[in-house]
Amino acid sequence: MLFICILNSEIRILTSEIQHLSTFSPMKPLSNRTEHFTESVIRHMTRVANACGAINLSQGFPDFDPPKALQDRLAEVAHTGPHQYALTIGAQNFREALSKKQEHFSGLRYDPQTEMVITCGSTEAMMITMMSVCNPGDKVVIFSPFYENYTADTILSGATPIYVPLDPHDFTFDANVLEDAMKQPGVKALVLCNPSNPSGKVFTREELQIIADLAIKYDLYVITDEVYEHIVFAPHHHTYIATLPGMRERTIECSSLSKSYSITGWRLGYVLAAEPIMNCIKKIHDFTVVGAASPLQETALTALNFGDDYYQELQAHYTHMKEIFTGGLRNLGFKFTEPQGTYFVMMDISEFGYKSDDQFCIDLAQKVGVAAVPGSSFFREPVNHLIRFHFAKKDETLIEALNRLESLRQKMK
Ligand code: GLN
Repeated sequence: MLFICILNSEIRILTSEIQHLSTFSPMKPLSNRTEHFTESVIRHMTRVANACGAINLSQGFPDFDPPKALQDRLAEVAHTGPHQYALTIGAQNFREALSKKQEHFSGLRYDPQTEMVITCGSTEAMMITMMSVCNPGDKVVIFSPFYENYTADTILSGATPIYVPLDPHDFTFDANVLEDAMKQPGVKALVLCNPSNPSGKVFTREELQIIADLAIKYDLYVITDEVYEHIVFAPHHHTYIATLPGMRERTIECSSLSKSYSITGWRLGYVLAAEPIMNCIKKIHDFTVVGAASPLQETALTALNFGDDYYQELQAHYTHMKEIFTGGLRNLGFKFTEPQGTYFVMMDISEFGYKSDDQFCIDLAQKVGVAAVPGSSFFREPVNHLIRFHFAKKDETLIEALNRLESLRQKMK
């Protein structure tokens, strides 16, 4: 009912906007660039959660604070500045600290002057990378399920996505199917989200080697999204594909500070790539956003300088949240794939007999008071028996969500 009310009010706003616009007729048609994708389902579910007062386990962001050292530094920077633009590619001290941190974790050194750009989140990083790599008519290989932005990024840069399915049970891929996709004429790049949203998969070194061998064989770029690089559950281990032989020069790494330091709202991300690629990426960044927020770069320097103990505590904290939430799902008898990394878990809803996972998620938010993302928004194939929860939440939030989920079978059968 509530959802219908939201829809009604959205329709009323739309109608009045159209009436207003109609006074300017005749109107030329708008760009057809946006015709082939919809608004983000993930972010739509946040609006549904807010409207229903549901616990929001849909769009992934923490409800706990960032590290205290960052909060304290933010207060200081309010008084000391900077408050004006940083260099468009990012503040010098921030880029130098990022270069050191990256070398510490991956063993690869990226030149702060020529091989990196600081962006407004990894969302911008991925978009400007795709625009720099693709020409209209090119193709981009994407594993399915995938984080929904990749399709929009591909289409906005004039290219066409080609999807390679991951098995929805264990999220493995068939190397022959991957090769068939990568060798198609016009394929320019492959997108690799590792650790992977929404599946929670962490690609093994052997899997990465298969991808790397094919990328080299067919001369493709590998565009990575590694925002969950520090959220990996033992015994799994994150390998940066750029570290594999022959891959540094063809890998364009997109990542961010959002997940590693619980600052999704600061919108601080980056791209790392070899200089000739970065020269193109910098131009698009410069003309689209000018730069990322300078006071936040100054503040986040503190985070880039954290020692190894910070990352060990982060892993321990996420392992704890995963155990609370997936342990609770297990106790309630729900089926799900154990996440190897990230803060997402995909749950199987076959037992409820819904034809539409979209409807299931609306009912879940309204009747049970928990918001999730319909799995179909991540899959190219017709998969509608999965939903995605995230567990980057305080213990009490997760426990309350599990209490509510206890009534799921009773309320949704
Ligand atoms: N990556 C997070 C998710 O998949 C948040 C994405 C976003 O909305 N920027 O939920």
